[in-house]
Amino acid sequence: MEFKELLNKYAKLIVNVGVNIQKGQMLVVNGSVTSMDLAREIALEAYKAGASKVQVKYNDDILARYALLYQADETLKEVPEWFIDERLYAIEKGAAMVSITSPNPKAMEGVNPEKMKISQQAVQAHPKFQDIMAYTMGNRGQWCVVAMPSDEWAKKVFPSLPIKEAYERLWLAILKASRVSEDNNPVTAWEEHNGNISRRSKIMNEHNFKSLHYKNSLGTDLDIELVNNHIWAGGSEHTTKGIIFNPNIPTEEVFTMPLKTGVNGKVFSTKPLFYNGKLIEDFWFEFKNGKVIDFGAKKEYETLKTLVENDPGSSYLGEVALVQYDSPISNSGILFYNTLFDENASCHLALGNAYPMNVKGGISMSRDQLKEAGANSSFTHVDFMIGNKDLDIVGTKHDGSKVQIFKNGNFVF
Ligand code: ZN
Ligand code: ZN
Repeated sequence: MEFKELLNKYAKLIVNVGVNIQKGQMLVVNGSVTSMDLAREIALEAYKAGASKVQVKYNDDILARYALLYQADETLKEVPEWFIDERLYAIEKGAAMVSITSPNPKAMEGVNPEKMKISQQAVQAHPKFQDIMAYTMGNRGQWCVVAMPSDEWAKKVFPSLPIKEAYERLWLAILKASRVSEDNNPVTAWEEHNGNISRRSKIMNEHNFKSLHYKNSLGTDLDIELVNNHIWAGGSEHTTKGIIFNPNIPTEEVFTMPLKTGVNGKVFSTKPLFYNGKLIEDFWFEFKNGKVIDFGAKKEYETLKTLVENDPGSSYLGEVALVQYDSPISNSGILFYNTLFDENASCHLALGNAYPMNVKGGISMSRDQLKEAGANSSFTHVDFMIGNKDLDIVGTKHDGSKVQIFKNGNFVF
């Protein structure tokens, strides 16, 4: 099979299962300039599926680097109204949104994290920013995050291979993780996969745990209380209008909402975290009553600090996710240096905003109601990996009884 055909299968999967584009609906595709082949194929398949209009927005990691290196703080703080209006326009149209991640891991080398913080906070401080974020975080429209290699990313993942070979290897790894192969129908493969994920989230929902306790040989000893009426979700989701879609391709996780103030103990990372262009390695957090009260990292401590101190909510958890140690992405043995893949190779937690869908009635709750339900609210949401081969997780129910959930890194059911 020609590679072109695999690319087309992947694009069809993104359009029909990822965002499940509806007839007459607008589609916005955000992608790096290194993702043009995929963006064009997605646009074509979206039109064929009946999209009214496809708007592709390219960004460029290298231009972003130059801006941060050379623009004055005052300039970085400026957020033009058209930048906001463009996003509001798509939201008003009820557009579906695809993001193609095709990162350049070296783009932010040597860039001062404070500069990144200044430009991010300027956007986050805009009065309309929460509305923009709520559109996807609150499932008001379909959205999907997918990936395509870039030369720089491929070089990072396969440093010993010649660039052309590394690029092809990364493409094949992405397609394999996304269940796109020469001899399968990715759409039916995803129906089956979504079924397996929902079986596990159903079991977790039936247990209705009060809290989860994590323990492994690295020293993780963490207690996470869950919000009352939490919902375990994963795989496909529904928009507020009832349209089914898959927000992440690939995905392996089932996840829910921790109680903002109910996290206590210490947790160690099991994979590096690529954040703001920097690789944070061997880090840990200590929580008390939900808040990170201490943390450390062998590499990029300062970058980790900007994450924890981004805003009042970024030092609290917003997501708890379960992923088998024995999963296709984990078994590939590849460290992708990219959250979309690495988070699906490992149990993870997220600092920052919680997903409203993870509590009953959450998607129609106001910000105050969500807060009352115990949800964390933040301008950021960053996953970090904590699963390993000897991770045990025990759930405690409201009646005090205990149920083993994970044994040696894997689900017991
Ligand atoms: Zn997650
Ligand atoms: Zn997450």
